Amino acid sequence: MRKVAFYTLGCKLNFSETSTISRQFAEKGYQKVEFSETPDIFIINTCSVTDNADKKCAKIVREAQSINPDGYVAIIGCYAQLKPKEISEIPGVDAVLGAAEKFRLIELLDGFVKPETTQVLASEIKEATAFNNAYSINDRTRTFLKVQDGCNYHCAFCTIPLARGKSRSDSVENILSSAREIAATEVKEVVLTGVNIGDFGIQDGKRTERFVDLVKAIDEVEGIDRIRISSIEPNLLTNEIIEFTSSSKRFVPHFHIPLQSGNNKTLRRMRRRYLRELYEDRINKIKQLMPNCCIGVDVIVGFPGETHEDFLDTYNFLNELNISYLHVFTYSERANTAAPEMEGRVPLKERKERSKMLRILSEKKKQQFYRENLGSTATVLFENDIENGMMHGFTENYVRVAAKYDPMLINELKTVTLKSINENGTVAVEEPEMVFEKH
Ligand code: SF4
Repeated sequence: MRKVAFYTLGCKLNFSETSTISRQFAEKGYQKVEFSETPDIFIINTCSVTDNADKKCAKIVREAQSINPDGYVAIIGCYAQLKPKEISEIPGVDAVLGAAEKFRLIELLDGFVKPETTQVLASEIKEATAFNNAYSINDRTRTFLKVQDGCNYHCAFCTIPLARGKSRSDSVENILSSAREIAATEVKEVVLTGVNIGDFGIQDGKRTERFVDLVKAIDEVEGIDRIRISSIEPNLLTNEIIEFTSSSKRFVPHFHIPLQSGNNKTLRRMRRRYLRELYEDRINKIKQLMPNCCIGVDVIVGFPGETHEDFLDTYNFLNELNISYLHVFTYSERANTAAPEMEGRVPLKERKERSKMLRILSEKKKQQFYRENLGSTATVLFENDIENGMMHGFTENYVRVAAKYDPMLINELKTVTLKSINENGTVAVEEPEMVFEKH
């Protein structure tokens, strides 16, 4: 039995795709192993958002070669689509597959025989029109279920449309069938995943369904305890979606909503499709219906033309906003996007300082959100981890909880009272009151 190992960089979507590709290998009789277990085949799923994607990719290839110099190395993923030639020149790479090819890799790389020269099978991105469904089953607790791929927006900083192609989706019917498969396993939480998930519903270039249709349909699937939406653009997060999730049996009170800038001039330059007033309105609507809802925010600092005053505008906007944490990205130039051509390059040092300020703000927001939750009762889904004798899990509204390690708790939903904030930022719970929930 030939052995295959996977390495995934980047986002939840990549993880769901690696997981599905690994199941394709298992169906063909390959054995999935860890990198260290001398695999015959190494599959590296890359990301284009990662800084130094090229260096990271080369490092992993070197590692693969040192583990098994005769191993076959194939590179797939966003970075493979964007820079196939550069990747093919990394010593030790046997094949590079683009977005339209990656799900056919077993068929295309027939037998995984090391070639004389690197095989590059990366069509132009306009060829990536098929939707390939995917979901991850990495640990038993949580699954990333891919429902949408690609993006039709043209944000000035983003390479994703070039790496993943146009917006396209699975049908609600297919997704429900995957969701039922997942429900039949032990997995308790499904995270709906996509590039621009709010744009869900385009099939063969035509809009046939809406994201809210999916939300309503999947809420009915028995056997899934929790459903989370990974990230949704503010302009696509409608009142209907917010209202439905607020009364849903399974959708948890947690949204992750990219803002990118709290300064309207910068938002326009970024080619985002909303202004900060709309964003604020979305947050207010959510908090009005779900006061305990966790809200995460993506922000980019140091975008070209962002002056110190513009940054302070973003800072103050976020400081006033009732949100729970930030994901801060330091702007970095990406080839073939509009932003690097724009005036007003922000010095790297300044970008880093702004990033630091927002990371401190994020910590403050998170602590404040956790404090607001102390004393309340919540359900925690415990994960399979152990650190200094403690295990962890998340409440429905994404408070990270720590409890004494107990293997019986892994993948269990338990009702707890949130007691206090630990030094490391997690929340301690009242363990004696733990009661098992029925699955
Ligand atoms: S919405 Fe903008 S940032 Fe998000 S994937 Fe599409 S182009 Fe990129």
